[in-house]
Amino acid sequence: MLSDIITWLFPDSCLSCNSEGQLLCLDCRDRLNPHPEICFGCKKTQSTSGYCQNCQTNSGLFSLKACYQFDNLAKQLVYEAKYQLNPNAPKLISQLILESLGSTFWQDFDLISFIPSSRQKLRLRGSNIVKTVARNLSIGSGLPIIALLNRTNNHELVGLSRADRVKTIIGSFELNTKAKSLDLAEVRLLLIDDVLTSGATLQEAAKTLSGYDLQVSGLVFAHKLEPGTESLIAGTNLILNLP
Ligand SMILES: [Zn+2]
Ligand SMILES: [Zn+2]
Repeated sequence: MLSDIITWLFPDSCLSCNSEGQLLCLDCRDRLNPHPEICFGCKKTQSTSGYCQNCQTNSGLFSLKACYQFDNLAKQLVYEAKYQLNPNAPKLISQLILESLGSTFWQDFDLISFIPSSRQKLRLRGSNIVKTVARNLSIGSGLPIIALLNRTNNHELVGLSRADRVKTIIGSFELNTKAKSLDLAEVRLLLIDDVLTSGATLQEAAKTLSGYDLQVSGLVFAHKLEPGTESLIAGTNLILNLP
């Protein structure tokens, strides 16, 4: 309700071309870069994005999906949600995820959950953007949603190396009271996060849930590709485009 009033008082302009009306106009949405079909672990090209068989075993996740590359527009949109606190940004992120995946994607899952915010970030932002997106995805897909995890510390991962991220995130989650009382055996759970960098956050969350005999998969709006991967992808496209 409040977000509708804010939108009415301060209509959005496109983050990219500045045209008035929407946060990303239809022309600029077409310029979002879909996630390339590579393995998240070893970065080898494959028929779909996700983990290859080798890397999946080490990840603790059953599957992982990223809709877009975390570059230019995707980055601006996430910043608009997290730092400008524009209520239309999480709405658009949810809409873009639903459009990018199509309706059959959701058939492989029974339940949606999400990566929780630290108390510090909740105080700063007023709400957990990821929870808002997960709720919208639950409505859009028809899958039930439940909060399962609490954050036990406020450690910031931004700017850390992959190795430091993995070390820092260990022990960052615990099961909430509700999760402890549920029988989740054999449930196919889809954990939502906004941006994937090293994958350490989703992997640690999956580890926290591992005692439940759940099948845990991950879904993120965008994946920050490591430097060098872009040129690898550009090179692949170049080869594929040869006559
Ligand atoms: Zn535009
Ligand atoms: Zn791999």
